[in-house]
Amino acid sequence: MSCPNWWNWATFAATCKCTPPRRTATRALRIWQDAAKQLGYQYILITDHSKAVTVANGLSEERAVEHIQRIRAARKKVKGIEIWAGTEVDIMGDGALDYSNELLKQFDIVLASVHSRMNMPSDEMTTRLLRALENPYVRILGHPTGRLILRRDPFLFDIEKVFAAAREFGVILEVNAAPERLDLCDRHVKLARDRGMKIIISTDAHDPQHFKLMRYGVITARRGWMEKSGVLNTLPPEKLLAGLRPLPR
Ligand SMILES: [Zn+2]
Repeated sequence: MSCPNWWNWATFAATCKCTPPRRTATRALRIWQDAAKQLGYQYILITDHSKAVTVANGLSEERAVEHIQRIRAARKKVKGIEIWAGTEVDIMGDGALDYSNELLKQFDIVLASVHSRMNMPSDEMTTRLLRALENPYVRILGHPTGRLILRRDPFLFDIEKVFAAAREFGVILEVNAAPERLDLCDRHVKLARDRGMKIIISTDAHDPQHFKLMRYGVITARRGWMEKSGVLNTLPPEKLLAGLRPLPR
């Protein structure tokens, strides 16, 4: 037996979680839209960090609103590619999120990730992640173990409990295709797959050149025996939205 082989460029309808440089935001968005279209993508999710992630120049609330408006404007300018305003909101030490629900509800898609205090004991980290997953606007858990290959070990938490909660709430797990992350790793993809959970493969692109990193995420997913049907961003935009956790009314 060999791993399920469903990969080719046309398999993917989107790349998710992209962060264009903000200095040239309006012009850059156009380049990103064109590059995505050329690859045959139908939609693209642009995310930025939230304010606590100062190393990555996270956005204040005010600038997050501008980010949403800029993306809505870009959507109207380029036809044939859907562009969504997302955020990668920081999961704070106590599991609260770095933006208010009032702001979170304005984004098309909210990912939540841990970027700080990664050396907590496992039970504290588990509680932290569980609290974040409870927030009704969180639809994707970003790079769930925080590892950086050869630089940082995955942080400790009860993966069974966290996966069970994500499954219950309908939160999708990210497989981050950046070669230094590959997070989830293959073993954790297998765990998710065996529990009937779905993933999204993101390129975490900071430049349209990074769209090509998708293959590493795919290799990781295949090593975890994930089938195409378990990868949400192989679906057209309306089906992807329908596959995410329903938003509160
Ligand atoms: Zn991140």
